[in-house]
Amino acid sequence: MRRRSSNTGCSADISQASHEKRLRETPWIPPPSRSETRLGCTASGDRIETTMRLLVIENAAELVTPIGRSALCGHDMAKLRFVKNGAVLCYDDEILAVGTTSEIEKKLAECTPDALDVERINAEGKTILPGYVDPHTHFIFGGYRQDEFQMRLRGATYMEIMEAGGGIAATNRATREATEEQLYETGLRRLDRMLDLGITTVEGKTGYGENTETEDKMLTVMERLDRDHPVDIVRTYMGAHSVPPAFKGRTCDYIDYLIAEGLPMAKGRADFCDVFTETGVFELDESERLLLAARECGFKLKMHADEIVPLGGAGLAAKLRATSADHLLKASDEDLFAMRDAGVVATLLPCTAFSLREPYARGRFMIDNGLAVALGTDLNPGSCYTQSIPLMTALATIYMEMTIEETITALTLNAAAAIDRADTIGSLEPGKKADIIILDCPDHRHLSYHFAMNLVETVVKSGAVVRRT
Ligand SMILES: [Zn+2]
Repeated sequence: MRRRSSNTGCSADISQASHEKRLRETPWIPPPSRSETRLGCTASGDRIETTMRLLVIENAAELVTPIGRSALCGHDMAKLRFVKNGAVLCYDDEILAVGTTSEIEKKLAECTPDALDVERINAEGKTILPGYVDPHTHFIFGGYRQDEFQMRLRGATYMEIMEAGGGIAATNRATREATEEQLYETGLRRLDRMLDLGITTVEGKTGYGENTETEDKMLTVMERLDRDHPVDIVRTYMGAHSVPPAFKGRTCDYIDYLIAEGLPMAKGRADFCDVFTETGVFELDESERLLLAARECGFKLKMHADEIVPLGGAGLAAKLRATSADHLLKASDEDLFAMRDAGVVATLLPCTAFSLREPYARGRFMIDNGLAVALGTDLNPGSCYTQSIPLMTALATIYMEMTIEETITALTLNAAAAIDRADTIGSLEPGKKADIIILDCPDHRHLSYHFAMNLVETVVKSGAVVRRT
């Protein structure tokens, strides 16, 4: 049975008002009113008569991008395209051409007789990359757990934190109590920070509801934010994040409840179904039953797998041919090889390991053995409250022994593959969405060398400049 929250009916009006208010009050740069020209061409080079918007980013010291429409595996992750004196030509929200500045000027001259009617960004001395994709977050939640974080730093155990009223139960309570508007406003602020950091697409999960009504509210908030904010949001239904107290000792009944109510509510609204597969939370057989039902309903599959103990979640992800399996700190060699053979993306979340003082996932081993590795922040209020791509880049390159080239692929094309969007985003190629960032550095290697700093200067989302510092 699909339930809707009581105020969903007027959310469009609220969204519109909020959006207009934000355009007045926030530093977003509204889409520019570009000069329009009557003659253009498509990605395939056909000349067309139309009203069009053209944007050229040119003179970049370096343009760097992976190439492809699916995940790059193993050592192919390091095979990027580098263009010195690079440039990109965008037509509306799509990339039309990528090359050297002189090649793009030539292309532009073929497209339009009046090159002056084009918006130009001079990226001299700078580096152009595809917009970052964050393929794993829990960015919609009520309340904060800063007390618990300090307790944990002082050595408190999980049980001591739970007894003090912390843990995921605290977030579940606060999320249930929060209004749709409160979740919307905090979500908006978190998306703003993502955009500052160059994230142009993010995956967001439900999972703090413990009941279908709250899960519905979380999905509604993400749907509204997707419409209102420049960052694109790929939604994941994660009713199986924790077992609610009402179902304590009856996990099988909770799975029945999710299948009967949760999946129908989320069907057509969330792309993915995810499950927290760990000993004492959702066991392998329970996870498999839910995921099979979700697949039957049309969801693509994701898993939180082998984070705490080597339960075999990665192996189940391979068996079910999930789109991605995430965390993988304790995944066995055998299960990782099965993931590789089944084409499951390994999404690693080093900021969580950093925050919990855990050893990092074996990124180097996975890449050396042919897996496709993506990186995500795991932004959440408990174990990892950050959306920092710069910190993640530092951890991947300094502690996980990934090269900066592999790391760029993991943050762009492979992250897009982890949410099944590699055909439209994640690289700078003709026909892909014009999601582009300009970094204030002359060379991509500065991303690890000038570590943990945000070098993003300009963000172009769907062909429009939305951030410029
Ligand atoms: Zn997670």
